[in-house]
Amino acid sequence: MNTIAERYVKLVLALGRHDADYVDAFYGPPEWKAEAERQKTALPEIRATAERLIAEIPNLTDGDRKDELVVLRRDYLKRQLDALRARVRMLEGAKLTFDEESQALYDAVAPTHPDSYFEATLQEIAQALPGEGPLVDRYEAFRSRFIVPADRLSRVFDRAIAECRARTLPHVQLPANESFTVEYVRGKPWSGYNWYQGDFRSLIQVNTDLPIYIDRAIDLACHEGYPGHHVYNALLEKHLVRDRGWVEFSVYALFSPQSLIAEGTANYGIEVAFPGDERLAFERDVLFPLAGLDGSQAAAYAKTRALVDRLSYAGNEAARKYLNGERTRTQTVEWLTRYAMSPAAAAEQRTRFFDTYRSYVINYNLGKDLVKQYVESKGNAASQPERRWQEFVRLLASPRLPSALRQTAPPPR
Ligand SMILES: [Zn+2]
Repeated sequence: MNTIAERYVKLVLALGRHDADYVDAFYGPPEWKAEAERQKTALPEIRATAERLIAEIPNLTDGDRKDELVVLRRDYLKRQLDALRARVRMLEGAKLTFDEESQALYDAVAPTHPDSYFEATLQEIAQALPGEGPLVDRYEAFRSRFIVPADRLSRVFDRAIAECRARTLPHVQLPANESFTVEYVRGKPWSGYNWYQGDFRSLIQVNTDLPIYIDRAIDLACHEGYPGHHVYNALLEKHLVRDRGWVEFSVYALFSPQSLIAEGTANYGIEVAFPGDERLAFERDVLFPLAGLDGSQAAAYAKTRALVDRLSYAGNEAARKYLNGERTRTQTVEWLTRYAMSPAAAAEQRTRFFDTYRSYVINYNLGKDLVKQYVESKGNAASQPERRWQEFVRLLASPRLPSALRQTAPPPR
């Protein structure tokens, strides 16, 4: 397995030469990367090698079956290779539908919802935001009261990160030298990004092209940091790469099933770190004052935000129809302003995200729902915050496939 794992890493690096977004992180031997640059392996050869490696993966022995992680590792590597093969086919020009693509790359298909599914939520939002004019404009006007002034951004984010870290550390054994740097950038198709550097370090970039609302602080601190991507990557490095010597985890192929687990845990981690009303209390009592905002409005904002969150699957619908060629960019922006409550500029930014990352969008909301169902299906994890942390951390530190999460629970609707 270790030989196949090493060849898998080299194959991911080889594909990275054809696809600039593919290698999200790599902290294995630098000479492997140099070798990939030098060899410039062609796509058909990468595909053929992937097929060969899949065929060479050995069957499990009785000894293997005694260690759950060994069993998971085998299935995972096989499926990651299969996704790599699909990505090569796409780069070679294969046209997959949105659902075919997400199944091939992320081992999952998002449920489909008609427009009417979102209407009920839109009506509730309309009641919460009475007035004239399109609902999205009313929402934007309401929301404008919760923008963090640019000169207070870093102090608000730093405080949110410190809080998320303090809430995570009692439940997760992190390496002593783990660290996390934040940079503010512009002109990107995403709103935030964690670039894992290896050696338990992360570089988090925050895109300031669009206004940043107060709720982004906790979203970002949890999602990119604690207990999200930074913790996830650090735990994989510690438990799988260093303790077990499983090199395949030193590379992170972005368009692969791993991303559903990464995004799903990063989003679900917010409610693990802030159970019940704890998020609202912290935002109201600490972050609002730091941002110079009126804390008495925090509850109303949280309530509206929770309603708008229920429209998250509208983003999948928009991406699905846009990428399947059923709607133009302009039509997609219009549809998103109505059904996802995205103001035009944000909707436009989202279509750019669809262009680059395509069916990756399902990893955020479907990923979160699958992770939540998986973790909360374990014993009484749904009602006991401590148990929930344990199951959550166990998932973070193990190579589990999206389809294996799904087997534990009915698919989300
Ligand atoms: Zn993410």
